[in-house]
Amino acid sequence: MEHILFKSLPQSEQTYLTELDGRYSFSFQEQRQLIEAACDLLQWKMGPLSLWIEEGRYAKQQGKRRAKALLSDLIEKVDLERKKPTQYAHFFPAERMPDKYQSVIVQNDKLMGRCPCPVEGEKTRCCNLRTLDAVQQCAFGCSYCSIQSFYNSHEIQVVGNLEQRLESLELEEDVWHIGTGQSSDSLLWGNDFGTLDALQTLARRYPQTIIELKTKSHRTDWVDMQLCPNIVATWSLNAPTIIEKEEHLTATLDQRLGAARAAADKGIPIGFHLHPMVWFVGWKEEYRSLIERVCATFRPEELVMFSFGTLTFTKAVLRELRSQKRESRILDMELTPAAGKYSYPLETKRELFSFAYSCFPERWKEDGPFFYLCMEDPSLWEPTFGYSYPTDKSFEAAMKKSYQKRVALIAGNRMQKPLDKQE
Ligand code: SF4
Repeated sequence: MEHILFKSLPQSEQTYLTELDGRYSFSFQEQRQLIEAACDLLQWKMGPLSLWIEEGRYAKQQGKRRAKALLSDLIEKVDLERKKPTQYAHFFPAERMPDKYQSVIVQNDKLMGRCPCPVEGEKTRCCNLRTLDAVQQCAFGCSYCSIQSFYNSHEIQVVGNLEQRLESLELEEDVWHIGTGQSSDSLLWGNDFGTLDALQTLARRYPQTIIELKTKSHRTDWVDMQLCPNIVATWSLNAPTIIEKEEHLTATLDQRLGAARAAADKGIPIGFHLHPMVWFVGWKEEYRSLIERVCATFRPEELVMFSFGTLTFTKAVLRELRSQKRESRILDMELTPAAGKYSYPLETKRELFSFAYSCFPERWKEDGPFFYLCMEDPSLWEPTFGYSYPTDKSFEAAMKKSYQKRVALIAGNRMQKPLDKQE
């Protein structure tokens, strides 16, 4: 079998598939479907494939018709599994050990990029976030993330002379917010590589530009750094089940909220991303309780933003994740085409996002953080929030106004509070 994923299967699956193909002479597309199903079932710990294929059931049919009947029966059964909310109760993935990393200094020509939304066509509501890749590679092991396989897996690549480069970097006129969490976790290494010092340089030069750090860590040593007020620290949050089963090596929900509290106590503007929301058995209870904890731990005016998002994969990332021999149920989901990628069907997303937003008290919705959907279909806004933006430009303008106002307010409060009173 020639499909690229075939070799990533264990020998026993390769042998089974080769023998099956010998009996039925599947087309290349049919082989691909069989191989992808075999990869998925193994990752979900529901394999091997032979458990799902009932050759005896179609014994009366011959040749191509039998091959097609076998395959559609398999696909139907796997689709039934995908359509159910993911069950994690009896799923215990092998513990992922931390990799040993060494840091290397790299000289990247290109520092800045843009978020991975499709550039044209407004297929997703996009806020035009620019990205700055100060560090590449991540030591966490989220099973939906491809960063670990895109870069050399044992090297933390740190951009050399970052501070000097940011001293002379000229931002384009329309750049008003920059994220640093696209190619790594922004705070996992704190200021170990001088990254935060370097970002301070840029933040000082462009005080109206919001620089967003995004993390799943619980480091707090950096909160004493007197960061510029336009540097916003954000935490990706998730349900404890998803953190435990799919976000390997990351901080627990308690730890992330604790770190965010420590930052807010120092007057640092913060934000949260409930991303990626997963449709699993128990999702409502866990996401509701997460939001209740956020509302009990923070005042709405301490937050700059709160976003919702879910699982979305490109074809290349799907192939990459399937080729990894890791136990995960993250691909146990309906993979519906969405703006050139694959994601949950719109009804599922509507349910996830509108439920999550409905869990916030009115006061948070009136005077709280800027709520938004990250890289999502524009049709999801109205059912989620009760309002929507007609264009990317209007969304971006509203976000910019809200962020800058909130950051200025938090900075004002920080100034009023004498340093020794900042907890
Ligand atoms: S923390 Fe972010 S960058 Fe690191 S593995 Fe998870 S998703 Fe990827």
